[in-house]
Amino acid sequence: MAQIIDGKGLAQQIQHELSKKVQLLKSQHGVVPGLVVILVGDNPASQVYVRNKERSALAAGFLSETVRLPESTTEEALLNVVKKYNQDDRFHGILVQLPLPEHINEQNVLLAINPEKDVDGFHPTNMGNLWSGNRVMVPCTPAGIMKMLEAYQVEIEGKTAVVIGRSNIVGKPMAHLLIEQNATVTLTHSKTQNLPEVCQTADILVVAIGRGHFVTKDFVKPGAVVIDVGMNRDENGKLIGDVKFDEVAEIASLITPVPGGVGPMTITMLLEQTYKAALRSSSSKEE
Ligand code: NAP
Repeated sequence: MAQIIDGKGLAQQIQHELSKKVQLLKSQHGVVPGLVVILVGDNPASQVYVRNKERSALAAGFLSETVRLPESTTEEALLNVVKKYNQDDRFHGILVQLPLPEHINEQNVLLAINPEKDVDGFHPTNMGNLWSGNRVMVPCTPAGIMKMLEAYQVEIEGKTAVVIGRSNIVGKPMAHLLIEQNATVTLTHSKTQNLPEVCQTADILVVAIGRGHFVTKDFVKPGAVVIDVGMNRDENGKLIGDVKFDEVAEIASLITPVPGGVGPMTITMLLEQTYKAALRSSSSKEE
């Protein structure tokens, strides 16, 4: 039976440490890390994520602001809000909650965020930095997964890793972070042939598809480490992962639950990157 990775507990521990560092930054440099989250429309899942981000930011001692805009907001109006926060020194992190309504071009909005405040790490400058080995802002979900693997002392070097899903926010940066740690990585997607067989080669399997209980034990090599990024609702509205937890836990060595696995670590990385951005801005002012 697999050991369960306690993402929630680890997140609480890191956020507690972070709140102490925030106090120190405040008392020594008079700087309070500031995070603004911009939400357009009333997507119910986004509302929950944004509330959780706000709550965690406040608990860690951050300045936290949430801008809630109606579904009908124009792209121009949203860009103006982003520009306003780019210029506001009290905020070191700007996050625009995705997905955006269809009439707004997501790329235009992501491009408008000052890369130094892009705590989600989705700006092409930060993506490029990541791929060229110069990490500044790293997408929070894969960053959180790497923290979990480190905390549970998972050996990565020389291991075979398979990532299912090639989104810009999870799959691609995840594959890159694993390559950086010297894993041999296969990045798979909906056109991959013989997916279960490919996955069975993995010592570390990261699943980010968005289909409830898609990965069964037939995808998993006995003893593998299985990370489930998926967040889906079943027919009763219950939150479930992409992995069929009960049967996969029987053969994996380590596994993340949903909820309580990857999700809390994502928020923690968001706070950590905002804190680091505040630290950078305070030291650049002192130079
Ligand atoms: P996405 O942009 O929709 O990407 C899904 C990926 O899965 C795509 O690359 C797609 O392949 C692939 N895929 C779809 N069906 C497949 C199949 N049958 N076989 C193999 N691959 C398949 O999703 P995302 O934004 O990466 O998110 C994935 C999941 O993670 C969602 O459930 C999301 O809610 C969750 N998530 C959780 C967190 C967290 O903090 N816990 C953060 C972000 C996302 P193609 O490219 O070929 O279409």
